[in-house]
Amino acid sequence: MYASRMNLVTLREDPADAEIASHRLLLRAGYIYKSGAGLYLYGPLAHRVIAKLRAIVAEEISAAGGLEITMPILQEQSLWEASGRWLGYQATRTMLTTTDRGGQIFGLCPTAEEVVTDYAKAQINSWKQLPVCYFQQHTKFRDEIRPRFGLMRVKEFIMMDAYSFHADEASLDQSYAEMMEAYRRIFQRCGLTTFAVEADSGAIGGSGSHEFMAIADVGEDAILYNEDSGYAANVETARTTLKPAPAWAAPSEPTTVATPGAGTIDEVVAYLNAHGHADILPEHLLKTVLLVAETASGSITVAACIRGDRQINEVKVQNAISKALGSTAPGIAALRPMVEAEVRVATGARPGFAGPVDGLTVDLVIVDAQVPYDAPMVCGANRDDAHTLGLQVIRDVELDYCRADILLAEAGDPDPEQGLPMAVRRGLEVGHVFKLGTKYSAAMSAQFNGQDGKLHPMIMGCYGIGTSRLAAATIEQHHDERGICWPVALAPYTCVVVPAKGREQACVDAATAIYEELRSAGIDAILDERDCGPGVKFKDWELIGIPFTVVCGRGLADGLVEFKRRRSGESIDVPIADIRSTLQGAIAAG
Ligand code: ATP
Ligand code: MG
Repeated sequence: MYASRMNLVTLREDPADAEIASHRLLLRAGYIYKSGAGLYLYGPLAHRVIAKLRAIVAEEISAAGGLEITMPILQEQSLWEASGRWLGYQATRTMLTTTDRGGQIFGLCPTAEEVVTDYAKAQINSWKQLPVCYFQQHTKFRDEIRPRFGLMRVKEFIMMDAYSFHADEASLDQSYAEMMEAYRRIFQRCGLTTFAVEADSGAIGGSGSHEFMAIADVGEDAILYNEDSGYAANVETARTTLKPAPAWAAPSEPTTVATPGAGTIDEVVAYLNAHGHADILPEHLLKTVLLVAETASGSITVAACIRGDRQINEVKVQNAISKALGSTAPGIAALRPMVEAEVRVATGARPGFAGPVDGLTVDLVIVDAQVPYDAPMVCGANRDDAHTLGLQVIRDVELDYCRADILLAEAGDPDPEQGLPMAVRRGLEVGHVFKLGTKYSAAMSAQFNGQDGKLHPMIMGCYGIGTSRLAAATIEQHHDERGICWPVALAPYTCVVVPAKGREQACVDAATAIYEELRSAGIDAILDERDCGPGVKFKDWELIGIPFTVVCGRGLADGLVEFKRRRSGESIDVPIADIRSTLQGAIAAG
């Protein structure tokens, strides 16, 4: 490629609204163009990067047994009604919809479990055809509340989505493990450092799930982990075990005492410490968080009870509510704290005095699994300025309640596997794998004839990689103050040949000859014959992130050219005759 034909448009200044490196550099180097809010056009350079990524993904997923297909982006409402997800996706407004001239409504593919299950139902009759895995790399649409960070969170993006179908759990487990291996190879080939963490299955549903996180300070996800135990989980799902609270001198029966003006945990503890209960600690309190869950068919009031020294994890609470409501209930669109007027209705008191005892009226009470059943606690008395001391959950809570893990694990907490302290770091989710089980096949009657001669719903797994986000995540891990440092496998071009003395014919001829030789060796090379100074050229290629530069300059008289590596900045003189093999060696080394 001749640089003069590439219509390179680079910016010297950082665009005002670009907060993170990948966003800034993709815009400055001319890879992407903002076509609308959360909508980007991939320019010629980005197109090449995405094409390389797609090829890597397709190769590895195919090697793991995936069959590549293309599904329609327009998805019929009836398919989503069959799976039971239409209302939930409408309520959360995740799915964009459109209407055809006949008034029929379609969803714009946010994910394709319904479409592929319908396909598998038509294709698969017998256990002999299983397992099967279909995948595609196609556009997805999500009506993100806050599109941001360039390609990281957009309304329209490319995702590799794969779906596997199995006759039994063991086969699903095997494919799940193979897919995780394929993911590892994909990210490794992209030069991306990732690790797999236990994850929440979210709106997709299912029993097990891992996310692949690219480590990055700008990551939107917090990960709790311990290097030695190997435990790693998204904070949304991370588990821990709390140290039991020490004993305190509690009354043997629940006793309500005045706590004037003391509504927060610290205030209650301070008040009680000063009034005859010096041994009460925050962990002796039962914090009752009052929430409203909005669903497509109305709202549900919830009291979430947790040890006073800890916070609730809203994702876990949301999952606990969904579980309590049952699988046929409409999905939860939003979870929010009650406003003061709602608290007064639910407790008869102002905020700060709620407890799972007499006087509380909510639709659902959830008690965190680590609140002790039989150790005495302190909770609000559902009366202004009053708390109840000595409450035992198993003995004194007469409301209907369920127990679930709703605890927000924190840095420093012991991991659930070996009890080693967890640290926190930030990550960008680039891929996700789920064990779906029979959620979709059962709802949509996608059955097969088993070896036992009976009909069974197919057991499913699903797997996603955000192809376009992957490109951005790679830049987060591979850039410096001068621009992008693409790993060779993803770079739009591998090498640029620069005649440093562009006005001297001998220099241009030498550069052209080298360029032709590299091209005929199958190397993605550029000849920068633009009519501008070498300084401008070098700055452009550093910004764009081409891994290798060959400079034809002073050394030509001695038969030498300069070979420069973008990432290390290292530069050596190489005889012209050796430049191709030098470059091939460097490419092979990555
Ligand atoms: P997030 O938590 O970041 O919103 P998600 O968990 O909703 O993502 P999945 O449904 O797991 O996303 O989709 C699979 C992959 O698609 C994600 O791992 C991510 O790489 C990518 N992805 C999801 N949403 C977006 C988006 N809005 N823009 C770009 N890529 C996305
Ligand atoms: Mg995900």
